[in-house]
Amino acid sequence: MINELYQEIILDHSKRPRNFGRLEGANRHALGHNPLCGDRCALFLKERDGRIEEIRFEGSGCAISTSSASLMTEALKGKTVAEAEQLLKRFLDLVTKDQPLTEDLGKLAVFAGVREFPARVKCATLAWHTLRAALRDAGGVVSTE
Ligand code: ZN
Repeated sequence: MINELYQEIILDHSKRPRNFGRLEGANRHALGHNPLCGDRCALFLKERDGRIEEIRFEGSGCAISTSSASLMTEALKGKTVAEAEQLLKRFLDLVTKDQPLTEDLGKLAVFAGVREFPARVKCATLAWHTLRAALRDAGGVVSTE
């Protein structure tokens, strides 16, 4: 049952991605590419005083990469950069470790099942690797390969 709910969330966010489109006045930006699947992600952030005031993304890719980016932007809006870094680490643990902690991850926990499919892990983490590039050096380009 829980898997059906998870699939519904992923489908919903891939069909109707939230926070999709360019962000005017963004002061952090990065591009991500997952050549294995062909996913692309352009991430735009407006950060002020260490807080993410606005976050949007553009791109094209599979359902997993699009829904992951959509759910990520929902989770990060209003968070501090430190909280975003923490969530990034938690998410990478979620999709790569055998026994990750899922509490406090909210809807992001839907990606827990991805770790059984190594090729899909790159789809699920693309937006997050792009986030890391955007937070650490604005204008970076990252690739999952
Ligand atoms: Zn993909």
